[in-house]
Amino acid sequence: MAGFTPLTGGCLCGAVRFEVRVPADDVYHCHCSICRKLQGALMPTYVVVPRAAFIVTQGADNVTRYDSSERIHRFFCSTCGARVYEHSTEQPDDIWYAAGSLDDGADPRTEDANFRHIFWESRNGWYEPKDTLPKIIAFGDD
Ligand SMILES: [Zn+2]
Ligand SMILES: [Zn+2]
Repeated sequence: MAGFTPLTGGCLCGAVRFEVRVPADDVYHCHCSICRKLQGALMPTYVVVPRAAFIVTQGADNVTRYDSSERIHRFFCSTCGARVYEHSTEQPDDIWYAAGSLDDGADPRTEDANFRHIFWESRNGWYEPKDTLPKIIAFGDD
């Protein structure tokens, strides 16, 4: 994308580094029970970009893959355990990367990006975000 300065990010220990070459049209907080366990957080935040625009620039051989289902592959740093990106065979041309792994708190969104809560019905009961972001049940419900 013309004029877009690539974003950089990586895992906690620095072994795995990546570059993102486009801003994202789609960002979401995921409230599904699988992400909650996997992340150890109430809601990880994902950024969706075309697979070709997400480049692992360092430490590709230090990445461990965990398949939380046949379709969904999760990629972690083998050293520090930070979750860096994910891939679903249902969206073969996209990568979901962890918003929190970007350097310096960079904002990955396009100006009119969709920023949403997803799998809202599965959210943890004791904390409810009070923001005004759209809340959808699953992909395709908006
Ligand atoms: Zn690491
Ligand atoms: Zn999830």
